Amino acid sequence: MKVLVIEDEQKVARFLKKGLEAEGFEVDVAEDGEKGEKAARTEQYDVILLDVLLPVKDGFSILRDLRHDKIKTPIIMLTARSDTEDIVGGLEQGADDYLCKPFSFDVLLARIRSVLRRSAQSQVKLKYKDLVLDTVTHKAQRGGKTIELTSREYALLEYFMRNQGKLITRSELAREVWGYNFDPGTNVVDVYVTHLRKKIDSEHKVKLFQTERGKGYYLSDKKLSFK
Ligand code: CA
Repeated sequence: MKVLVIEDEQKVARFLKKGLEAEGFEVDVAEDGEKGEKAARTEQYDVILLDVLLPVKDGFSILRDLRHDKIKTPIIMLTARSDTEDIVGGLEQGADDYLCKPFSFDVLLARIRSVLRRSAQSQVKLKYKDLVLDTVTHKAQRGGKTIELTSREYALLEYFMRNQGKLITRSELAREVWGYNFDPGTNVVDVYVTHLRKKIDSEHKVKLFQTERGKGYYLSDKKLSFK
């Protein structure tokens, strides 16, 4: 599980990062609003902890702009105790929860888990065009026809489905799907992608897996251009 912490107070950010890592989360920290929003838009996070008062761009503006652009990553706002009106505004703008500072780490953890549970329930099925991936049964369907997947193929396809239209490099797949923090130096990624795309695409005229030569792969029903 990956968490983005957007927080300018270094002490708080360090405390959150350390505590969450100890609980097994992967944690990125952004120390201003602009960097935080960029990370939220480019990386895939399971939950975002978003401070309200931030340099460059405040938390509510970030929340509003992310939701406006249909980025639905669960967001927990971290607010100062006096901001009751802001809390209501934040929830109306699509925050999933909020915590008033100072908060205890245990309460934060409970809130994160509850937000993650809710978001898992709302995302039982991932869809792209006529491809559907059930995150509970781990089965895929394309055009209504069931496709059996091995556990690694499932993990790989889930990663593609959660990053639709994004160029995904081999090293990113090695890291996110295999858990390698280094280049495995083999073509294991290509072998798996080739196998998976055969299962998904071979019987269909419209291909959903695309190759960006020398760079990686992406899920799209047409060729896209990447800078
Ligand atoms: Ca702050």
